[in-house]
Amino acid sequence: ELYNKVLELKGNIRVFCRCRPLNSEEIAAGDSMAIDFESAKDGELTVISNGAPKKTFKFDAVFGPQAEQSDVFQDTAPFATSVLDGFNVCIFAYGQTGTGKTFTMEGTKENRGVNFRTLEELFRIINERKKFCRYEISVSALEVYNEQIRDLLVSGSQQSMMTKRLEVRQVGEGMHHIPGLVEAHVNDMKEVWEVLQTGSNARAVGSTNANEHSSRSHCLHCVMVKGENLLNGECTKSKLWLVDLAGSERVAKTDVLGERLKETQNINRSLSALGDVISALATKSPHIPFRNSKLTHLLQDSLGGDSKTLMFVQISPNENDLGETLCSLNFASRVR
Ligand code: ADP
Ligand code: MG
Repeated sequence: ELYNKVLELKGNIRVFCRCRPLNSEEIAAGDSMAIDFESAKDGELTVISNGAPKKTFKFDAVFGPQAEQSDVFQDTAPFATSVLDGFNVCIFAYGQTGTGKTFTMEGTKENRGVNFRTLEELFRIINERKKFCRYEISVSALEVYNEQIRDLLVSGSQQSMMTKRLEVRQVGEGMHHIPGLVEAHVNDMKEVWEVLQTGSNARAVGSTNANEHSSRSHCLHCVMVKGENLLNGECTKSKLWLVDLAGSERVAKTDVLGERLKETQNINRSLSALGDVISALATKSPHIPFRNSKLTHLLQDSLGGDSKTLMFVQISPNENDLGETLCSLNFASRVR
């Protein structure tokens, strides 16, 4: 079938697809592009195989290799407004390792990503509303590796002294909390940048291969917002999750043993649990299986109900990656 209408605007779930450019090694090797972005403006992309169009996918937005961080953020910014209006929001990046998940979420110092820009937008709006609203913002940074939560704002030496494992606890109707997790209060973007850097640096610590480790763990930031309307005294509490997921590439189970096998099973389990939760939400299923993984349990408050979800499906343009690319695009289609 040539046309596959994958994603209609359903409920509060949006899917954006972003494709990285071919890198210099790929260009030098003469690799070809397997994706056509002719109709990107209409939210469509076409997968090309052996020179012929194979399948067209439709998303809420498509960002081709030329799209800038600012282009992407333009469409992401409304989610920041929602958080200040009292909605819970979850934004995450899904895809094969090397497709730009970290580039989209964290970005680089010169080319900041969604995490930084979202907080910048929060502070911009807070300033705009300061005559009639007061807000308090705090940020947590954590990692989920092998179904265990690690606080990225606690230094390595303090971490080894922590006797209690971090766990998700229900603290009220539709409210979850992780007792003991550091919540850093931030007053301005300078403080935000410090917190984001601390988290980012902590990720690399304690692993022999930082890149490898970051592709095998989920990195999450939670932005907690307390708002008070000064005119009527009404208070709001909302939560924004910003998630850089583990790489979605399939690893043949026969290729790995021991620790690595457990790691692979945990990644597969949590990513498929996430897919199950989102598709259950999209189809308005009465049972949403939040408890099947640490990841979905953590994100529970910001998935479903009247919360808003944005998923970035990150893909490679390289014909050699077509198998994984189709897997990611199909995962995204399950999520409708
Ligand atoms: P992932 O986190 O999915 O493993 P990365 O974000 O680390 O992937 O991206 C892999 C490489 O590609 C990095 O060097 C990154 O800077 C680069 N990259 C990814 N997306 C883009 C993009 N849209 N534009 C330019 N460079 C990109
Ligand atoms: Mg990464």
